[in-house]
Amino acid sequence: MAVLMRRAMSGWGRTNPSSCEVIDVDRADIAAVVAQASSRGALARGLGRSYGDSAQNGGGLLVRLGGTAADIFLDPDTGVVRVGGGVSLDDLLRVVVPRGWFIPVSPGTRSVTIGGAVASDIHGKNHHVDGSFGNHVVSLTLLLADGSTMVVGPQQHAEIFWATVGGMGLTGIILEANVRLLAIETSRCAVETTRHDNLDSLLTEMSDGDEHYRYSVSWIDLIAKGRHLGRSVLSRGDHAKLSDLDARAAGDPLRYGPRQRISVPPLVPTPGVLNHASVALFNEGWFRHYPARRASVEGIGAFFHPLDGVGAWNRLYGRLGFVQYQFVVPFGEETALRDVIERLSASGAASFLAVLKRFGVGNPAPLSFPSPGWTLALDIPARSKGLASLLHDLDRVVLDAGGRHYLAKDSHTTPAAFRRGYPRLAEWQTIRDRLDPGRLWCSDQARRLELVDQAIIRSSS
Ligand SMILES: Cc1cc2nc3c(=O)[nH]c(=O)nc-3n(C[C@H](O)[C@H](O)[C@H](O)COP(=O)(O)OP(=O)(O)OC[C@H]3O[C@@H](n4cnc5c(N)ncnc54)[C@H](O)[C@@H]3O)c2cc1C
Repeated sequence: MAVLMRRAMSGWGRTNPSSCEVIDVDRADIAAVVAQASSRGALARGLGRSYGDSAQNGGGLLVRLGGTAADIFLDPDTGVVRVGGGVSLDDLLRVVVPRGWFIPVSPGTRSVTIGGAVASDIHGKNHHVDGSFGNHVVSLTLLLADGSTMVVGPQQHAEIFWATVGGMGLTGIILEANVRLLAIETSRCAVETTRHDNLDSLLTEMSDGDEHYRYSVSWIDLIAKGRHLGRSVLSRGDHAKLSDLDARAAGDPLRYGPRQRISVPPLVPTPGVLNHASVALFNEGWFRHYPARRASVEGIGAFFHPLDGVGAWNRLYGRLGFVQYQFVVPFGEETALRDVIERLSASGAASFLAVLKRFGVGNPAPLSFPSPGWTLALDIPARSKGLASLLHDLDRVVLDAGGRHYLAKDSHTTPAAFRRGYPRLAEWQTIRDRLDPGRLWCSDQARRLELVDQAIIRSSS
C-alpha cells in the first residue's frame, strides 16, 4: 500500500524547497494514484538530480516510480533494452556493461532515472557525435492525464514523442522506454588529456580536434584571470578496444563495479566549505596535477562519473545550497563565451565545477536544450553576493548571442528569457495542452516560467 508523505522537496542545488505530497508507487497503481491529485496537479520525480525546481510541485503530488534490475530486459541481438522509467542508469549499467553494452548518452552522474534522462533529453560528452538521449529512444510508454497509456516513438505519434523528450514531465509519466545501446569491447576508456594555459588555446584545440573523439569535455578554472583566463584541462577519448588493454593486467575486460568511496555528512556548517579561497586552492592543484599531455586507460566510473565517488557532495555548499548555470551559445559567438567567462572571473564567484563542451546538431524536440555551439555549465554558491544580478547580466549576453538555458539546471531564469531562448515553446504548449486539457501535470518550474497555462485552474477530483 503506497503511503503519502508531505515533505519539503528541492533539486540537487537545494535552493527553493517546496512542500509536496510525495508518494512511491508501482506501475500497477500509478493511474489510480494520479487520479487523486488535487488542483495543484501531479508530477513524476526521478532521483532529484535536476538542480533547480523542475522536479518539485509545491502543494501538489510528486510521484516516484520505483525500478530495479528486474525491470531491465536486454535483447542481445539488437542491443535494444526495454527498461522501466524509474530504473536508474546505475542499475542499468550494472546489468548491461558486463554483457558488452553501454548507454548511448551518459550524464556526469549515474544517479539519474530513465524517465529523468528522457524528460530532460540529457546530453553527454559525445553530443557532437551522437546527439542527446532522445535520439536513441526507440519508443516510450507514457501515462497520459486521462489515465490511459500510449506508446510513442519517432515513428509512432512522433509529435507527442518529441514533446515528451525534453518536456520535463509535463506531457505525462514515462512508464517504460526502449533504448538502443552502444556495443563496447571493454569497460575501460582510452583517454587523452591536454592542459591549456588560456581560453584561445582550448577553443582552438576543441574546434580542430573534437571530431576525432567520441567523447570530449574540458574543465575550466573560472577563477583564473588576465592571460590565464580560461586555463583548462581537456579530456577526450573513446571506449577502449581489447587491443588497447594490457593483456596481463586487464583481467575481465568487461568488469564493472563502481563504488562510492566517501559521503559528505548532513551537518556541513552553513556557509559551506566552498568559498573563493578553497576553490582557488583546489583549481590551482587540479590544473597543476595534469602534465601538458597524457594518455591513460580509465574505468567507466572515473571517466564518466567522477563525482559519484563522493556521496551527497551537494552538501559541501552548506544549507543554502548552490545554483547551477548552464547555457549554449552558437558557434561563431566565441566573444559572448569569453564575455561570460570574464564576468564570472571578475565577480570572484567560487565555481570549481565548470565544464565546457561542444554540441552538434539538435533533434526535433521543441524543448530539447542542445543546439550547435559551446555549452558551459558551472556551480555557484547560492549565498554569493550579487548573484541574481550577475546571472541576469549573463542571461543578457547569452540571449543576445542567440543562446539559451538548460531547464534541468535552471532555477532563476524569467519567462521572457526562456521564451527568447526557445522560439518553439508555443508549438510545444499546443501539443501539451491537447494532451492535458485539465492541466494535471505541473511543476514549480512550469509555474515560474509559465510553461503551463495558469489561466485554467484544474478542479480537484
Ligand atoms: C552531478 C551531476 C551531473 C550531471 N551531468 C549532466 C550532464 O552531463 N548532462 C545532462 O544533460 N544533465 C546532467 N545532469 C542533470 C541530470 O542528468 C538531469 O537533471 C536528469 O533529468 C535527472 O534525472 P532524475 O532521474 O534525477 O530526474 P529528476 O531530477 O527527479 O526530474 C527531472 C525532470 O524529469 C521529470 N521526470 C522524472 N522522471 C520522470 C518520468 N518517469 N516520467 C516523466 N518525467 C519524469 C521530472 O518531472 C523533472 O521535470 C547532472 C546532474 C548532476 C547532479
